[in-house]
Amino acid sequence: MSLPKTITIDGPAASGKSTLGKRIADSLGYLFFDTGVMYRAVTWIALSRDIDINMKHLIEQLAEKIDIDVRPTTIDDGRVADILADGEDITWQIRNPEVDAAVSQVSTYPGVRKALSSQQRRIGLRGKVVMVGRDIGTIVLPGAEFKIYLDASVEERAKRRYSECMARGEMVKYKEILESMRRRDQIDSTRDIAPLKPARDAIILDSDRLSADQVYEQSLILMEESTKKISH
Ligand code: C5P
Repeated sequence: MSLPKTITIDGPAASGKSTLGKRIADSLGYLFFDTGVMYRAVTWIALSRDIDINMKHLIEQLAEKIDIDVRPTTIDDGRVADILADGEDITWQIRNPEVDAAVSQVSTYPGVRKALSSQQRRIGLRGKVVMVGRDIGTIVLPGAEFKIYLDASVEERAKRRYSECMARGEMVKYKEILESMRRRDQIDSTRDIAPLKPARDAIILDSDRLSADQVYEQSLILMEESTKKISH
């Protein structure tokens, strides 16, 4: 089969986008690019420099200036890539609860979205990429050949995030994760610019009752079917 040049996976937090995206990318020899890390990196740098998250212009300037790099892993600690901001390794810092709580607000700022999505588009248009986020199929790469929108209930997603944190030895509360995720869903799906929603030509997959293996297998079947349709 002739493979899609670009594959996009959008959906809410912890719906399994990264696990699926990484697996598809590895199996095809494509680049895996999780765009959420860029919004997280800007948020982390702002928090670590004591910049008030409400200072829209300062955060937008930061997003313009900051050099975010995603590189192959150099440390074997469960990471899928090294995330660097101005040369500093911030791979795990960007996953902390303070970032979770602030990132959606940072992502509503037009200047932040403009700076980050133009970098994402440049990488995506080179092809052979699986790009994961909230607005990839709708705004960043609307012409992508294969688009998935991966969904799951907020309770199931909070359960998954809770297990991940506990496995890393972080002491977290399920209820707090659930609340934070609900807030993030609300901001992400109602913002004016590039809200979270499926592209019109996306295939919607609900992963609630599916294992990661089943989501992967289902996606490959759907990709094959869509490729056949395109080539006929
Ligand atoms: O995917 P992840 O949960 O790491 O994304 C963190 C946040 O970054 C999301 O809640 C959303 O606010 C923002 N984001 C976005 N557009 C993307 C990717 C992430 O607005 N393409």
